[in-house]
Amino acid sequence: MHGIQVVPQARGLDSYSPGLSIEEIKEKYGLSQVIKMASNENPLGTSPVVRDSLASNAEFAFRYPRSGNPELRKALASFLGIPSTCIVPGNGSDEIIDALIRILARPGVDNICAFSPCFSIYSLQSRLSGVEFRQAELDSSLCFDWEKLLDLTDEYTRIVFVTNPDNPSGYSVFSEEIVHLAQKLPAGCALIVDEAYADFARDVNRISVIPQLEKLGNVVVLRTFSKLFGLAGMRLGYGVMPEDLADCLLRVKLPFSVNILADQAGQAALRDGDFYAETRRVVLAGREYLQGHLEDLGCRVWPSQANFIMFTPPLSGRAVFRGLLERGIIVRPLDSYGFADSLRVSVGTEWENERFVFSMREIIHAG
Ligand SMILES: *Cc1c(COP(=O)(O)O)cnc(C)c1O
Repeated sequence: MHGIQVVPQARGLDSYSPGLSIEEIKEKYGLSQVIKMASNENPLGTSPVVRDSLASNAEFAFRYPRSGNPELRKALASFLGIPSTCIVPGNGSDEIIDALIRILARPGVDNICAFSPCFSIYSLQSRLSGVEFRQAELDSSLCFDWEKLLDLTDEYTRIVFVTNPDNPSGYSVFSEEIVHLAQKLPAGCALIVDEAYADFARDVNRISVIPQLEKLGNVVVLRTFSKLFGLAGMRLGYGVMPEDLADCLLRVKLPFSVNILADQAGQAALRDGDFYAETRRVVLAGREYLQGHLEDLGCRVWPSQANFIMFTPPLSGRAVFRGLLERGIIVRPLDSYGFADSLRVSVGTEWENERFVFSMREIIHAG
């Protein structure tokens, strides 16, 4: 019998481990109501302006989108105050990560560097491409150790990934540090700064490196509609990069990866300033509330500028995770990030945050 041969790097990879779904947990624990605080989604749901856009564009689902999504690029350009020629939309920022790895790094020759732990898509897609992936440990308070990261790089380093604010810790640095790193990288190496959570920072403008991109020349910024804009299920993200790289990426990426509804939904989301402001208000207040209560309950809490909080409970992380599931609350265990004792909770609505704290109190007092 004939068989089908798969490249070896595709066999060895573990798949991305997503948060548990609400339906799974309802079934398993016989619950009628489940709160998901595991995947850093927007606690307010989908913006009403986006819903209207989706409804009124439903009739165009039979059409191909315009290749390269020119209207969306223009809308993003005016939202960010940069030229549209620097912007490449993708099917989530995941698609941009994957495409950049494939056009920047040569399999079996080049390497890619990042901190450990980091967002697993960087390593999964590097390895799938046959590119060596090197990691520098974060320091003990989960801060960035730039020297350690730079020590990993050499003349074959084509990409350095940094997530700012970081996932899962929520740690962030001001853009000056990113600029310094960019200036010290080997020639030809791109610094990819993943700003998926930058919109949740107290002071976005001090964290984001987008305003300095023009003068740097070797930096790419990734942004997503999945978190603050509440469009995780639509799959929409983008990269901001030097014009010649954007031009190359647009020519080689799959032409219709951003579908017609996502394209329109993204433009609608950018118009809905009220939803943006309300999401920020709810998340910043909720973050402070959760931080304070978790500390009061004896947890170690990592200071976060994102829409989630990493914490280490005074009982075993696994036991707390299970206790929360039994009470209908899904958070994210961090075993896959190498922190078996810690959990990550996404900031929810006021009511969800209160339910979470109430359940945490029950679990910790019983333990
Ligand atoms: C959630 C997240 C993203 C967003 O990915 P999408 O593909 O745009 O949904 C990117 N980077 C990090 C670190 C994230 O946590």
